[in-house]
Parts: sequence; structure tokens; C-alpha cells
Amino acid sequence: MTMRMRLQPEAIGQGMTSQRVRDRLVDRLRENGIADERVLNAIRTVPRHLFVDEALATRAYEDTALPIGHGQTISQPWVVARMTEAVLEAAPAKVLEIGTGSGYQAAVLAALGLEVHTVERIGELLRTARKRLRSLGMNVRSKHDDGRIGWPENGPFDAILVTAAAPALVDALTQQLAPGGILVAPVGGATSQSLLKLRKDANGQITQESLAPVVFVPLLSGMID
Ligand code: SAH
Repeated sequence: MTMRMRLQPEAIGQGMTSQRVRDRLVDRLRENGIADERVLNAIRTVPRHLFVDEALATRAYEDTALPIGHGQTISQPWVVARMTEAVLEAAPAKVLEIGTGSGYQAAVLAALGLEVHTVERIGELLRTARKRLRSLGMNVRSKHDDGRIGWPENGPFDAILVTAAAPALVDALTQQLAPGGILVAPVGGATSQSLLKLRKDANGQITQESLAPVVFVPLLSGMID
């Protein structure tokens, strides 16, 4: 695992953001079926409280989604862990995330030593996420765009994580998945979706399974500042 994080005092945290509180979250994730130690370690290491507003920092290690502004949320840690665990099965090097949001999922992937690309449609969220990732010394490539087109110039990707919900899988993204790759995406209606895991075999044949019921904010078209 490659870690390029400089642990500054605010990253180490105190009280409700201390390492002990983070360790408790990891215990809870393990009890709830997350088994991959690499993923648990990444979650133990990445300071989630720095990816939410200071006013919410004390709740950062609860296993729950939290608001990040613009009607968006930082995903629930269990969901981040499950999606990360699912894509690691592809032994990925190059990964694409759609929906940077707070930057937390991207940070977890970067902490695993992956080459992370992430796309966000809301400029202000992306700028904040970039600042956070940079201050943690994490190297993530990002762009401000409608992620439904993916990032074709940099593809194909060994793994793709879509962190916003759509009624169906997005073809452009499936196409940018490398042979042997895994894509995870919440698919369904506005209030509940199924977390789908799609695998493309060496011949380009696609199989899919449903991992869990989830609730994500919607995948929207266009970009805003
Ligand atoms: N992965 C994020 C979760 C963010 S919530 C995290 O770890 O914090 C989903 C994000 O997807 C929101 O920030 C939303 O603006 C973004 N989003 C929605 N539709 C999108 C699209 N078409 N392209 C890129 N980002 C999109």
C-alpha cells in the first residue's frame, strides 16, 4: 500500500475525530461484513472528518452519509468500503470515479496506491475536494465535467465506481471498462437503488450481480460552477 499522506495534527484528530473513534468505525464495518483488510486499513487511515464541514466533524466516524452542500452527500462508510472491496477483485491499477463529491472515496482509493481519476459536475465541490486531497498529499487526477461521458482520453480503466444513481447503467462508462475490469454503480429509482457489480471478462463478455440495496443522490446531466 502506498501512502503519501503527511499526517498533520488536524489529520490525526482528537476526541470525536481521534484514531480510536476511527478504529471503532472499522470494527463496525468488519461486523457488517467488510472483510478486505486493505480496505479496512485505508478507512482507518483516511481522516474522514476532513472531508465534511467542521460543524459535522464529530459525526464523521458514524456509519452514515452526511451532507456536503449543494444537496449532495458524502457516502456512508460501509458503502464506500463495499464498493472499494468489490473493485479490488479486479486487481486494478487505474481507476475512474464518477461523482467526486467530498473527495473521500477518491482518497480511499488513492490510499490503496491506485491511480485515481475522478469526475465531478459541480465546480465548487470539486475545488474543495481538490484542496483536501492536495493538503493530504494525495495524488488524484480530476476534471470538472459531466461524468456520464466518462474520461475516454484516459481510459480504459481497470475499475469504475459510479457514486450517483441512474435508472440504468451508462453505456459510455461500460465501454471504458478494460477487459477483466469491474464497474460498480447504484442503479434504480430516486429513493432506492441496487448496487450493481458488473464484470467484463477477457473477451469483453459482461456479467453482473447485485451487491446490496443502497440510496445515492441522482446522477444528473450537465455541469454547474
Ligand atoms: N464519492 C463522493 C460521493 C458524492 S455524492 C464522496 O466520496 O464524497 C455524488 C456526487 O456525484 C455529487 O457530488 C454529485 O454532484 C455528483 N454527480 C452527479 N451527477 C454527476 C455527473 N453526471 N457527473 C459527475 N458527477 C456527478
